[in-house]
Amino acid sequence: MAKTVKKCGKKCYGCGRRPVFSIHSIYCRICDRLAFRMKERRFPPEAVKAVWEYIRAYDYRCFYTKMLLEMDDIKSPWFCVFDHLIPLDSRRIVLTSALINEMKTALSVREFWYFVLQLADLIVKGKSIKKIRLAHWRQQYAGEKQQGGAGEICLAQPKWKGKHKKCCQCGKPVFTLRSKYCLRCSRFNHRMEIKGFSPEAMEEIRLHIRTNGYVCALTGLPLEMDDYRSPWYCVFNYLTPGDHSKVVLTCALFNEMKTDLSIKEFWYYIRQLANYFRHGTKIRKKELVYWYRLTPQELYLKSLRD
Ligand SMILES: [Zn+2]
Ligand SMILES: [Zn+2]
Repeated sequence: MAKTVKKCGKKCYGCGRRPVFSIHSIYCRICDRLAFRMKERRFPPEAVKAVWEYIRAYDYRCFYTKMLLEMDDIKSPWFCVFDHLIPLDSRRIVLTSALINEMKTALSVREFWYFVLQLADLIVKGKSIKKIRLAHWRQQYAGEKQQGGAGEICLAQPKWKGKHKKCCQCGKPVFTLRSKYCLRCSRFNHRMEIKGFSPEAMEEIRLHIRTNGYVCALTGLPLEMDDYRSPWYCVFNYLTPGDHSKVVLTCALFNEMKTDLSIKEFWYYIRQLANYFRHGTKIRKKELVYWYRLTPQELYLKSLRD
């Protein structure tokens, strides 16, 4: 086949760099697969056209970080995936790596870089994070009206006398005389029990709440306890993916940005991304130990090698 290609000397219509893989095709092997994937996803023609224009100009590089993308191994964190530049808007598609795609979650480009820089400043300089309103977060629920109620009851002073009994977890007044907890803590403990964490892990979370209150363990930001559509909603995070013995509280947004990174890997990539954005420093890849595209068996084999 190589001979035929040499003879026809036709260049790929997609990337314009590599030779076509057969005289009957207009694409090289890589572009052919990419074209198929785009067709499967039913992207609009103008979005597809923009992707090819991008590839002709930059080759297979991440739109956000200009890192070279992996085109074969679908389990790699650097595998080339499609990302909606504006969340949920399929008119503008860009190429990025599986990892950056997960870290960007439902943020716009501006919001993504804003939080990368905020997180990097927190870890490097100890600056605290300033929240901004997110334009696309949980947008699919925008039509619903938030139901108030339980949360407000929790924060309001109970009507009955004997209001001196305090919640043993956070110190707020309890919600009935028979309860040890305020309504907020009682709902929180219920959520924690459903998750089936080990008693030690739960005790550690309770200790965190008693000493710091409901704050994010990664950033110290106060957490939203009622509105589950908020990016600041309190969620559980395994500091090391898959290790259920160490669970911390964080907000929905940073939980999604951390994806399947260990805490060390997360801060490493936040810093690398911030340096890239500010100074154009090339991002150095580091092998990800817990990347979820690995099967348990592959994880085991990897642990033998390390
Ligand atoms: Zn090509
Ligand atoms: Zn409480």
